[in-house]
Amino acid sequence: MTASKDNVPRFFCDAMLGGLARWLRAIGYDAAFEYGIDDGRLVEQARSDGRTILSSDGGLFERNVVKNGDVRALYIPQQLSRLEQLRFVVTQLGLERLPARCMACGGELADVPKHTVTDEAPPLAFRHCDQFWRCQGCRKLLWHGTHWQKIEQKLAGLFGR
Ligand SMILES: [Zn+2]
Repeated sequence: MTASKDNVPRFFCDAMLGGLARWLRAIGYDAAFEYGIDDGRLVEQARSDGRTILSSDGGLFERNVVKNGDVRALYIPQQLSRLEQLRFVVTQLGLERLPARCMACGGELADVPKHTVTDEAPPLAFRHCDQFWRCQGCRKLLWHGTHWQKIEQKLAGLFGR
């Protein structure tokens, strides 16, 4: 573990924390989430991928592999809003904001020149946005529409900017 990229934590969110996974991707972290996954498989997956588990399920923290530190895990207090969950993780682990990933699949985003998306981008987005990205995972075309602006406002508050 010398290269700094190897030190960027990667996460696996439990079945209740899909929203948190999406927000972690928005601040640039690789956060896996699988709908309906049970604790046993979640722990196994996290161990084989070297991911840190984020969970609000107290039972998970009773498992030996978690107790003995074989699998890293952070308990997320229950009843926090999604944004509070994100703030909790950021504060506890001292996370910095990184370039956004695709909120849907967690893939990395690559810049796409605007002139190449004339036919693909919706007319409104094409008129109002100058930057476009392509998710390297699901290949979706992304831009900073009104939905993203709301997210951006919340994130800016979170990182004190
Ligand atoms: Zn994607």
